[in-house]
Amino acid sequence: MNTDHAYIGLGSNVNNPHAQLTLAMANIASDEGIEVLACSHFYVTKPVGPVSQDNFMNAVIKIKTRYEPQALLTHLQTIEKQHGRHEKRIKWGPRPLDLDILLYEGQRVQEANLVIPHPELENRAFVLCPLADINEEMILPSGIKLKQKLKEIPMDGIIEVVEK
Ligand code: ADP
Ligand code: MG
Repeated sequence: MNTDHAYIGLGSNVNNPHAQLTLAMANIASDEGIEVLACSHFYVTKPVGPVSQDNFMNAVIKIKTRYEPQALLTHLQTIEKQHGRHEKRIKWGPRPLDLDILLYEGQRVQEANLVIPHPELENRAFVLCPLADINEEMILPSGIKLKQKLKEIPMDGIIEVVEK
């Protein structure tokens, strides 16, 4: 089986976010085409954007998968729907589950429905902190060291780190 490594960002701020993330990880791991290799701590974070809403819980997992990027996205979107996420909702609004492909085996994808590396990856402390839990020595797609980036970006969106 040909397999590739990828990093997935998880987020939730509706219906018990901690349970949503735990269940999402179990759902992802239960697929025979995906193996979960590592999981970050869980982070309580402030919502981004103009919508007033509850805090988020965020985490990152590292996976090994035989799915190509588009097939992986389809699979993750099926899991989002199982968690009650609907197409018609406000951009940046509340969501029971958000699954983003952050990185995929050093590949770059630039398609209408899929951009990898995730365009906001290097701007979001709630993604970079959990990434560092898994791979502190990572070099980001821009060429900057993850450790260095963490010193440069604002951390005020991170409220608390909690046990998984
Ligand atoms: P965000 O995750 O930035 O808050 P949304 O989850 O609301 O935004 O965006 C969903 C859309 O983003 C999906 O329709 C999907 O096709 C698209 N998308 C583009 N690139 C990615 C990616 N790397 N991972 C997940 N979804 C992506
Ligand atoms: Mg998303």
